[in-house]
Order: sequence, then structure tokens, then C-alpha cells
Amino acid sequence: MEPRYEPQLTLSDAAPVNASDRIEGRKKTPLAALAFYYHSYPQLLSYCDFSVVFSHYLTMIQKELELNRVEIQVSRKVLVVGTGLISQGVIHELIEMGYEVISTYAEDRAPEQGHLSDRPSSMPIHTDGVEVLGPTELVRFGGDPGRFNVSFKIDGARLLEKDVGAVILATDCELDEDLDAWKIECAKRVSSVSRLITALDAKDNGLFLEKTAPLTCVFVCGFTHSSNPYSLRKAINASLGLVSEANARVIFLMEHLEVADYGMERLTHKARDAGILFVRLSGTRPEIKSIGQGLRVSYIDEILGDEVQITPDLVVFEEAYRPPKGASQIADVLGIHLDRRGFFQGDNVYNRPIFTNRAGIWVVGSANGPISLEEGLKEAKAAALEVSKLLGDGTRRVEECRAGIIRRRCSACLTCFRVCPHGAVSFNDRRPIFSALACKGCGICVAECPMGVIQLHDFNDDELKAQIPVSSSALNLVAFTCQNSAFEAWSYASMMGLPLPAGLKVIRVPCAGRVGVDLVLSAFKAGVDGVMVLACHHESCKSVSGSLTAEERIKGIKGLLEKIGLEDERLIFAGIGPGMAFDFVKTAQEMEKTVLSLGKRRTYG
Ligand code: SF4
Ligand code: SF4
Repeated sequence: MEPRYEPQLTLSDAAPVNASDRIEGRKKTPLAALAFYYHSYPQLLSYCDFSVVFSHYLTMIQKELELNRVEIQVSRKVLVVGTGLISQGVIHELIEMGYEVISTYAEDRAPEQGHLSDRPSSMPIHTDGVEVLGPTELVRFGGDPGRFNVSFKIDGARLLEKDVGAVILATDCELDEDLDAWKIECAKRVSSVSRLITALDAKDNGLFLEKTAPLTCVFVCGFTHSSNPYSLRKAINASLGLVSEANARVIFLMEHLEVADYGMERLTHKARDAGILFVRLSGTRPEIKSIGQGLRVSYIDEILGDEVQITPDLVVFEEAYRPPKGASQIADVLGIHLDRRGFFQGDNVYNRPIFTNRAGIWVVGSANGPISLEEGLKEAKAAALEVSKLLGDGTRRVEECRAGIIRRRCSACLTCFRVCPHGAVSFNDRRPIFSALACKGCGICVAECPMGVIQLHDFNDDELKAQIPVSSSALNLVAFTCQNSAFEAWSYASMMGLPLPAGLKVIRVPCAGRVGVDLVLSAFKAGVDGVMVLACHHESCKSVSGSLTAEERIKGIKGLLEKIGLEDERLIFAGIGPGMAFDFVKTAQEMEKTVLSLGKRRTYG
């Protein structure tokens, strides 16, 4: 008898919800009825131009409706990592919602952003419901969302284990004054923004008020590192302080700036109105030299094309903010990604502002880059709301996991554990457990499993292969399209009536990472003339690494094609965003042209 794929439940105590209640309730929905009638009487809708698109969406809905629902018990404890006001904001929100908190931090030091003493009166320091561990080192992390197990080292030796349902990282960032990068000796005429603010607050004449004549001051931003809204705001506010306190003439020399933040445009207008000059230099750095007791700043003005020289009384360098020490160790243990700068979260736009690649772990405040206190506290609220969505009152009713395996054929090779970008696979008794709460149904593990024992409920091999067209005298093209991107682009193209190749068959997949070697070779085996794997762009892949994995895999399969006597141009990979209908058409037409030039091929195998 053919072995059965078993849907995987997260927890041993997961129990199906009353089945009759589920099925009866669902059959009554209009969409379910529509799906039923469409599949029973497809001719009713075949007159519509968009019937093929419509059919895909109905199948999608029908598959959703088929999933069983289960009840899962989860922990109501939340681990909060961090010091400072933003982490206190997280704790406050969680306690107000009735969750218990375990609070810890990696390093005992004064926070850069927001001291507890600055907290608003509406935010008391909670002691009830909060277990304060003090400084610890995270050494082990396992389980799945709702029931993680964390091990800490306390005092460098003692091991402590805790069960938590969710984790919020509210770590601070570290200030780097970045003055050494410019190698300027005239320390008296040079300052960082923070030092200037301290001097302005203390009315320190030594730094800038000793002159009676108006002061000339140059701010240097975004040359040694990309500026960010938090530090730029700080620099502009300091420059406004100089204008009002010392009647200063201020010039900003700037290169790489990130300015998109609430209120930044208003602040820049205010600075301009106060007479502050902003000069953008692209690709050239200003030259800053000590001359006697003073400084000389020279740069090429891009509009005039001439060199400009200034002898300022003060040069202020914008500061850099670095991730906290130990961020990479924490990320390693938790299995979450870091971005290019080393902050938590990774560079995927879908995760902004508070999500990570792992369900049940969120980042707030400066954990994912410097941010204002106001915005950080908003993120604290948002993360607490996400916790409440995940943990609820301790019992979650969720759809069963989309991934299932034939247990007895699993070789416990850990590949699925390694490749899952969402941390949805854990191991128990040398067998993988797929988490219903964490699995996004991307299918990367299905394509990578060397034993071929994992299947997805809604995209199993048989169903996908059944959609591959059989060999015919006409030219056949197959496009495996990610449902989050290229499939949407194709839907728009079809509904707009754009000219798509006549022999194109679009097959929807949950993620391009689901398209394994077997699926591509099956298409060629069936006599298809060209195969396209169309994915999200790497930085916006909903499955984090699905698009990249697919591209690497396609490169490998191209090598295989040569070995079986097929031209590698018959297989392509491309990134197509969901709104890129015209690019979809262009890619498909180019593929058609390529395949026509290669000629119709014979079936192999
Ligand atoms: S990748 Fe496949 S064979 Fe390996 S552990 Fe996972 S399910 Fe088992
Ligand atoms: S790789 Fe995708 S389908 Fe597999 S367990 Fe992870 S999230 Fe689920």
C-alpha cells in the first residue's frame, strides 16, 4: 500500500477541533460553494477570458478549506532581551496584556537610547509578573513558536533553562564617534555630534562659544558610513542649537543619506529657514586638513565645478551606530538573520519593521538599527500585539501544518532543519517535527529532502506534475511561478489581455524554492521545450531564502541538462515582482524566441 504523508502537529498534545463543526461551518461559505460549483460545472465559467486565472484562485481557496484545524497549548511567558526604555516599554505592554515576562540582557551598561529615568509616568517599572535574570549569555535555543526552550549561562558558568512562548529582542545599539576615520589632529576644533550636544547643554565655552564673532561650523555626514535618520536628526538638531546659541553659520557636507522618517522633511525645512546650508557631494570626499591652530575644509562644488575652501571654527562629524556586542552570537543561537550592518532582522523588506525570519521572535527599537525613542515605543506596542496573536490566552486554534512526511523513510539527515528559513523544523527522537505555527508552506524542504519524503498539503508532487503539458507538435513552455510574485504578475498580464506565448503553461508554486530538480526534469521528460522558474527578487522573497535557493538550484540543473544533451538556454531563472506584468510578458516572449531558435525538441527518458 502507498505510504501516507502524515500532517505534522507541533505538540504531542495537539488535538483536532470537532471535525463536523469544521466541515459544516466551512461548506456554508460562499467561496467554498463557488469552488464546488466551478469544479463541478467548469463550462459555466469557461467563457470568461480570465477563467484560467480564476481557476487557480479557486483551487487555492479549496485547498485552504481542506486543512484541518487543531488546538495547541502554548506558553504565556515572553523572554525580553535588552536594557533601556524601549525594553521597559515592551515589558509594560506585555504585563498590561496579562503575559508573564522573563527579562535579561547581554551586557550591563548604560543604554544609548532612552534611560529608565526618562520614562513617562504612564509607564511604571513592573515587578509583578516579571522575572529579572540580569546579565546572561544565551547558549541554547530550541522548540517552536509558542513553546521555545532557552538555556542561559549566568555568571559565565551556571546553566539555567526556561520555557517561553515568544522572544522580543529590544537590545540597544552602540555609539561609535568615528573620529579616527578622518585622522585629524586638531582635536580642539573637532567634535562628534554627541560631544557637541553635551557642550551645548553645559554651555561649554571651551568648545564653541569662546569667539565673539559668528562661528563657522561644518557638519560632515554620510562619508565613512551610510547616514541614518536617527543620527541625521540628532546632527540637525545640534546644528540648530549652534545657530541659536552661537549665531553660527552652518554648512552640511553630505554623501550617503537615509532620510525617510517621520518629521524629517519638516526638520530639514526648519534648518534651511534658519540659514543652514546643505551641500551634497556624490563620489568625492571633502579634504579636511590641520593648518596651524585651525582647520581647512575643501571640496569640489558639483554645481559650480570649482573647489571651495572654508576655514571653519569647528568641524562636527556625524556618528555611527553599531550593533551591540554579542549580536552575532545571539543571532546564531536563535537562528535569526543579521542585516549587512550586523543588526538583527536581515535585509528582507517583508520583515520590516519588527519581524524576523523566525515566527515567535521579534525585534524592536534599536535592535534592528538606530531609531528614535518615540518610534521604538510604537514598535514595542506592535510587538506585544504580535505576541498576543501568537500566544492568545494560552490555547491556539490553528490549521494543521502544511508540510507532512513519511516518517519511516526519513533518514534523519537534518537537511530540512538546516534549509527551513523559518525555523519551523525541530528534531525529537531523531525525527523531524514540523511546526504548524511556524511553517509557511514554502516547500523549500520538500525540494531539498534527499529522500523525497516531505510533501505539502496544497502543492504535492503529483498535483504539480499533473499540470505539466504533454508533448505536442506545438511549442510548449512551462513557467513555475511563485504565488507571491510572478504568479500575480501573470494574473495581471492575462487579465489585461497582454500577448503571452500561445504554448505557455503557468504552474503556481508556493515559492520558487519548491521547484526541485525532479520537477524541472519531469517537465523536460514530458517533452516541454523550455522551462522558466520565476521568483520574487531576492531581497523581497517572502520565504527569505527561497528565491536565492531556487536560483542556485537552477544553475546546478543547467549543468545536468548539458549532460543529457539539452541546451541550457531551455531553462531560465528570473525575478519578477507581483506588479511586473509587462516584465513577465517580456521574459516569456524572450524565452519563446530563444526556444524557437533552438527548435522543437524530442522527448527524452
Ligand atoms: S530532509 Fe528528509 S530525510 Fe532528511 S531529516 Fe528531513 S525529512 Fe528526513
Ligand atoms: S521549509 Fe517551508 S515548508 Fe518546509 S518546514 Fe520550513 S516553512 Fe514549512
